[in-house]
Amino acid sequence: MKENTNEMLLVFDSLPANEGLARITAASFCTQLNPTLEEIADLKTAVSEAVTNCIIHGYENQIKKIEMKLYYREQVLYVDITDHGVGIMDVQKAMEPMYTTKPDKDRSGMGFTFMEAFMDEVEVESETGKGTTVHMKKTIGR
Ligand code: ATP
Ligand code: MG
Repeated sequence: MKENTNEMLLVFDSLPANEGLARITAASFCTQLNPTLEEIADLKTAVSEAVTNCIIHGYENQIKKIEMKLYYREQVLYVDITDHGVGIMDVQKAMEPMYTTKPDKDRSGMGFTFMEAFMDEVEVESETGKGTTVHMKKTIGR
């Protein structure tokens, strides 16, 4: 039997308005896997958090490109979100609940914690001065 697989790439400007575009695109792509409403909501939240981080931390509000790659293998959905911005010096520390480098700007430091809560796996690849990719994985519709 043929493997159930599909891939897509979305490249967009790091404008807050495009956060909605990324959420809707991810939700729409995953409908092919027959998700529950809760799975869609979880995915949208995780995508929002990752894209917001690219905009405000990675690019510090400059307008550059964010890449979102989505693909699935059978019922496992993979989401990779990349910026080519400042990068993260200490990923382990950045992922701790309530850790933020922008406490003054209304940030609670819970973005990575939400991503981990709503997805099955979250892995962060980052290099200072080069950028960051957040790899997320979630089994859908089973
Ligand atoms: P919140 O998401 O609750 O608004 P936050 O964005 O500070 O607050 P996290 O999303 O958990 O919290 O991120 C923790 C920290 O990791 C950030 O404060 C920032 O220093 C760093 N960080 C996260 N994503 C990136 C990124 N794409 N590029 C550079 N630094 C990042
Ligand atoms: Mg955040």
